[in-house]
Amino acid sequence: MAIASNLGFPRIGAKRELKKATESHWKGELDLAGLQAQGAALRRAHWVKQARAGLTSVPSNDFSFYDQMLDMSCLLGNVPPRFDWDGKTIGPDLLFLMARGAGKTPACEMTKWFDTNYHYIVPEFHSQTTFKLSSTKPFDEFEEAQKASVTTRPVLIGPLTYLTLGKVQDDQHPDFDRFGLIDKLLPVYVEILKKLRAQGVQWVQIDEPVCSLDLTEAQKKILMTSYETLSKAAEGLKILVANYFGDLRDNLDTFLGLPVHGFHIDAVRGADEVDQVLTKFPKGKLLSLGIVDGRNIWKNDFDSSLKVLEKVQEVVGDDKLAIAPSCSLVHVPVTLESETKLDQEFQSWLSFAEEKVSEVVALTELLSGKGNPKLLQTNQAAMASRKSSTRIHNPAVKERAAQVQPKDLKRSSTFAQRQKVQRAKLKLPAFPTTTIGSFPQTKEVRSLRARHRKGELSTAEYESAIEAEIKKAIEFQNEIGLDMQVHGEFERNDMVEYFGELLEGFAFTQFGWVQSYGSRYVKPPIIFGDVSRPKPMTVRWSKFAQGLTDKPMKGMLTGPVTIMQWSFVRNDQPRSETVKQIALGILDEVQDLEKAGLAAIQIDEPAFREGLPLRRADWNQYLKWAAEAFRLSSSGVEDSTQIHTHMCYAEFNDIIEAIADLDADVISVETSRSNMELLEAFVNFKYPNEIGPGVYDIHSPRVPTVEEMDQLLAKAEQVLPPQNIWVNPDCGLKTRGWEEVIPALKNLVASAKKLREANGALNAQT
Ligand code: GLN
Ligand code: ZN
Repeated sequence: MAIASNLGFPRIGAKRELKKATESHWKGELDLAGLQAQGAALRRAHWVKQARAGLTSVPSNDFSFYDQMLDMSCLLGNVPPRFDWDGKTIGPDLLFLMARGAGKTPACEMTKWFDTNYHYIVPEFHSQTTFKLSSTKPFDEFEEAQKASVTTRPVLIGPLTYLTLGKVQDDQHPDFDRFGLIDKLLPVYVEILKKLRAQGVQWVQIDEPVCSLDLTEAQKKILMTSYETLSKAAEGLKILVANYFGDLRDNLDTFLGLPVHGFHIDAVRGADEVDQVLTKFPKGKLLSLGIVDGRNIWKNDFDSSLKVLEKVQEVVGDDKLAIAPSCSLVHVPVTLESETKLDQEFQSWLSFAEEKVSEVVALTELLSGKGNPKLLQTNQAAMASRKSSTRIHNPAVKERAAQVQPKDLKRSSTFAQRQKVQRAKLKLPAFPTTTIGSFPQTKEVRSLRARHRKGELSTAEYESAIEAEIKKAIEFQNEIGLDMQVHGEFERNDMVEYFGELLEGFAFTQFGWVQSYGSRYVKPPIIFGDVSRPKPMTVRWSKFAQGLTDKPMKGMLTGPVTIMQWSFVRNDQPRSETVKQIALGILDEVQDLEKAGLAAIQIDEPAFREGLPLRRADWNQYLKWAAEAFRLSSSGVEDSTQIHTHMCYAEFNDIIEAIADLDADVISVETSRSNMELLEAFVNFKYPNEIGPGVYDIHSPRVPTVEEMDQLLAKAEQVLPPQNIWVNPDCGLKTRGWEEVIPALKNLVASAKKLREANGALNAQT
């Protein structure tokens, strides 16, 4: 019989126990022993659960108090010098210090783990970096599991992935090649493997998901030489190298050529590559086939999985086949068991981590012919109901999406023509000032929404309280003289959830939390069906706000790409199709806002960049449909309606043309944190439309001075035509307090005024 296996289990607990424990530890309410005990209880529960479910290969060292890359840095003794490490064994306190910083010691950087919404702590390297075995975590956890009568397979991040995902922080040697550290790094890996072997570990899983990326020849070589060294040192200990998050393509030969005992491949994203893997698969080795999607929440289709598995079993043999999720299950919620509000039919389409473990077991049993045939029948019934359900399939929506014509993806006039009409209508000064949309989400504002939700506030009471907030925000904007105003987004809990709740085709779980970083978890909406907008979502608030001021008001929407990117997306049609349906819903809202008299509408796309595929070769295809979705949502308006968009990140250079292709009349972008570095992109590429490079870093509580903003704007003027520049913060102000926002925006308005004076001729936008 094949092996039923898993690559990693969510660590957060079904009721977010880990969050509660870590946060109370940080507050000083729970001591280290208490925290450790909670960690141990979760680990034990997860091991036992997986073993009882019937897994024959259960992972350990997949637990983390913060992040597995940070754990790896601790294991390898790679602590940046600013943390004054004493060189002794590293425990949670130093780990948290590195993750969160303290006082004047800045935390380590964190960034997105591949194309997931999980963030890892970036390892730092410098020319003097050394490594030394400095934690006992994987060894302790293996022992712990043994005591719980579960024999586990410890998981490590592999050396190539560790080096590739780290960053050089070395002022003296900024060009230092971190890959040169491999010779210092490998001896520690060797030591780890030897220790594991001495403990009686049979298999170790070494994750090398960078094999899903474009690798250089040098990286491939490091991969090969690393595993030559490691497998020699491992002696009896068997190594399973795991790739996930994509197919292998040009890395396939190197990957399958590694001198190890087993290989894990992602057979969900790499489904088309399975045949090729089989042709090249080395005889006698273990193939772990990641056939249950670890990145999404849909039930596995047993019929189609079994077809693949039968083929694979034929080639590698049943004792050399492991059946597994495509990647670690940390990217899906823990269990469906707690979801009491989702009806049975809907639940029958879903599968969270615990259910995915059961799917792996069921597939293993069914493949061997020993499985309960009922399991297959229930699965087939769920698949059939999803295929035909009228909750999912709305012919009118499909028909409308099919009717989209090229003319719907384009404004009817050129930017130059629109700009003229918009300027005549809006009569803005040169260097117009605006904000990105949200104003501080104070405790009072949050409690209004919470009380309304619980029924403690009637809708009428709630709405008039929100109106009062909007009124205050507009009085403030009038008082300080902001040119293009916003209503403040007080009615929104979250920029995706707010819209998801008002669109058809979205569902929300009660406990579907997924770790985003550290103790921060998100609960993504589930896009399960054809998307449409039954009625206006924001018009009421924007119209009310416009009625309170003579200054133009921006309607404020989240864009289709971002709504999709931050949700679990249906897997029964291409993402390009789903995003098109969302775009049509947003278009309806845009047109209603226009009818309601809003002269400007902002469609935020902060997640536009993170949707980029892992491989360069796939970028163009994504950028094409993503840009089309944005344009579909924003083109069906009069020339005089000014479309804004907003993106809050600084890596722009490689997608600048695609951004220009969105043809928004005005874009606001992040620049202040990177000291206008972003603008380098605009030296070679002449951005054609209007643009607001952020001059106020909203990620920091600091209030920037007028002079600082003057300097940033002076930099912007060097690369952007002055008549196209807007003056605005980096991003929305919801996380800041009014005590910071008031002085900062006053300074921002003052800086814009100075710029107008200095540019005498440019007193009005001309
Ligand atoms: N309009 C949103 C806000 O101001 C934009 C948030 C974002 O870019 N993430 O909060
Ligand atoms: Zn932003």
